[in-house]
Amino acid sequence: QAAEARFVSNNPLSNAQHDLAVGTLPGGNTRTLLHTSPFPLSMKQGKEAYVWDLDGHKYLDLVGELSAGLYGHSHPIIHSTLLTTLSTTGLSLGATTPHESSHAAQLCARFSLARVRMANTGTEANLHALAGARHYTGRRKVVVFSGGYHGAVLSFPAGRAAENTVDRGDFVVVRRYNDLALAQGVIEGVGEGCAAVLVEAMQGAGGCIPGGREFLLGVQEATKKVGAVFIVDEVMTSRLAPGGLAQELGLEPDLVTLGKYLGGGLAFGAFGGREEVMRVYDPRVEGSLAHSGTFNNNTLAMCVGYAGLREVFTEEVCVGFNAKGGRFRERLAEVAQGTRLRFTGRGSLIGLHFTEEVEGEITCGEDLEGKERRDLRDLFWFEMLEEGFWTTRRGFIAMMLGTPDEELDRFVEAVKGFIEKHRELMIL
Ligand code: PLP
Repeated sequence: QAAEARFVSNNPLSNAQHDLAVGTLPGGNTRTLLHTSPFPLSMKQGKEAYVWDLDGHKYLDLVGELSAGLYGHSHPIIHSTLLTTLSTTGLSLGATTPHESSHAAQLCARFSLARVRMANTGTEANLHALAGARHYTGRRKVVVFSGGYHGAVLSFPAGRAAENTVDRGDFVVVRRYNDLALAQGVIEGVGEGCAAVLVEAMQGAGGCIPGGREFLLGVQEATKKVGAVFIVDEVMTSRLAPGGLAQELGLEPDLVTLGKYLGGGLAFGAFGGREEVMRVYDPRVEGSLAHSGTFNNNTLAMCVGYAGLREVFTEEVCVGFNAKGGRFRERLAEVAQGTRLRFTGRGSLIGLHFTEEVEGEITCGEDLEGKERRDLRDLFWFEMLEEGFWTTRRGFIAMMLGTPDEELDRFVEAVKGFIEKHRELMIL
C-alpha cells in the first residue's frame, strides 16, 4: 500500500529503533496496544499539546496517553508541583504520609466515596475491588460485559463467542453490553454465587460506547437484588463529569475504581466506596484483607494528583472541557455523515469506527462484528500522521486540556479532506 510505503520511508529512525527494541522486548514492545505494523512510531518528546517522533516530525497529540494525559505534556502547575515535591518531600518514604490522606480526602469528596485506597494502576484497582467484593460476600463469581476492559488481565473483547454468555472461570461474560434483559437474566442466573458485577458506564477501550442510563440502573438493581457488590469502573470515565460518570447518571455503586489522570500523569489507581464494603481492608479489623504495594502511596503521584484535581481540573473546568469535547465530536460526525466513518463517545473521549453500514446507534461491540473496515482505518491513521495528527490506530481520541481550538478545527478539516480524497471508498 502506498500510504504504508510512505510511512516506512518517512520514518527510518523509528524503524531502526524497533529493530533494536525487538532484541530485548518481545515484539519490541512493552504495551501491546501500542504495537502497530509494520513498526510503531517511536516518540522522543512531548510539549504542551504536541509530541515529536524520532525522525523529528511534530504531531498534535490526540492520543492523550489513552486518557491519562488529561493535563497535556507541560502544564505549569503539574510541572511545578512535581519539582517542588521532589525537592521538599522526596520520593517514597516507607511510611504513611499526610499526602496520601489529603489526596484520599479530595477523591472521597469529589466522587462521593466514604473510603478509598490507593494503588498503582487501574488494573490493580479493579483486582483489589474484586478481591474486596469476594471477601465481603464470601462468593466467587464476577459478572462482566463483553467489550469491557478493566485492565491488562481483566480484558473481555467483544464478538468472539457465539453464545450469549461465556463462562471464563470465575468470570461470567454477558455478551451484549447495553442489553438489559440479557444482563438481568445472567445476574439472576449466577444468583447467590455472584460476588460482584463489574461494569463501565461507558466502554472506553471497547470503542467509546456509552452505557444507556436505563441499562446501567437496571444492572445496578439486579446486582443489589442478588446481594452482590456493584462496581463501576471509572478508570477512564471519571473525567467525564465533576463527580464521575456514574454520579452524573444517578448510579449508586458500592465501589468505584479510578486511575489515569488522577495521579497527575504518574502511575496511579484507586478504589473506594461504601464504608461497610471497604472495611474488609481495615487492618484494625480481625480477619481483614491485606492490601499492600510498595508504591501505593508514592509521594509524587499523591501530591501531583492532588494538585491537578484541586487546582487544574476543577468541577467547572471539567464541565467546560467535556462540553467542548461534545461539540468537537458533533462537528466530526457532521462532516462524516453518510460515510463509512462513525463517531461514538461522550464529552472528551471519542471513538472512531470505520464500518460498513450499521443500522441505528452502535450500542455494543457485537454491533460492529464483521462490519469493520480495518483497511480504511489503517489508511486514515497513516494519512493523519502525514497531516501531523497523532491518533491511536484502533480509533480513539482522548482530548487534553489546553489543546488550541484552531488545532481541533484543523483536525475537522483534515477528516473532511480525507473523506473527499477517498470518496469512492468512504461514501456508503
Ligand atoms: N479500566 C478501564 C476502564 C481502563 O480504560 C483501563 C485502562 O485503559 C484500566 C481499567 C486499566 O488501567 P491501567 O492501564 O492503569 O492498569
